[in-house]
Amino acid sequence: MQILSHVLVSPNVTRVACDKNRTQLAAPDTIVMHYTGGGDARSSALYLADPATKASAHVVVARDGQVFQLVPFNTRAWHAGVSALEGRTNVNAFSIGIELANAGRLTRRDDRWFTWFGTEIPSSEVCVVVGKEGITYWHAYTPLQLRVAARICQLLVKHYPICHLVGHSDITTRKQDPGLAFPWESFREMVGELRQPGGGGEAA
Ligand SMILES: [Zn+2]
Repeated sequence: MQILSHVLVSPNVTRVACDKNRTQLAAPDTIVMHYTGGGDARSSALYLADPATKASAHVVVARDGQVFQLVPFNTRAWHAGVSALEGRTNVNAFSIGIELANAGRLTRRDDRWFTWFGTEIPSSEVCVVVGKEGITYWHAYTPLQLRVAARICQLLVKHYPICHLVGHSDITTRKQDPGLAFPWESFREMVGELRQPGGGGEAA
């Protein structure tokens, strides 16, 4: 996989037209990780690309590692909403948004787990978290999906002055994605070093 002219190029990347996003994104320095909170990646990508949907993202990563790119990395996407990072508001203006296909928080009924939209999730895909809220259940990410997302982050760090890697829940109190199933420590390890703040970036 590589980035050419601000888009990912690889046999596992599908471009999805998303003409609603046209504002330039110059020198993004932040990556924001999200979950789709929906079903499969293709349907989420098509939903986010729809002109009627007031949200979008640069890429959506499927559970099988397939990637859908909606918005080039030199164009702003609408993934962050009302948001702030270290005193800067409107995070869309300086960030790249990566969506991971994942149903989010799950509900337990007897010994079965369901998404908020009613789909049953097999127990093999359930992540059990013991935390401040007690025991909560989340849709687990797949190892392949995380590896592909980390590879995309590495390429972004190479091409843009990326010095922040955060979750949507880090930049707004309205959202909880990528949620408690997201393995921040191992993910940051896979991505490796980010740029130094203020270090500038090489041309993509
Ligand atoms: Zn989000």
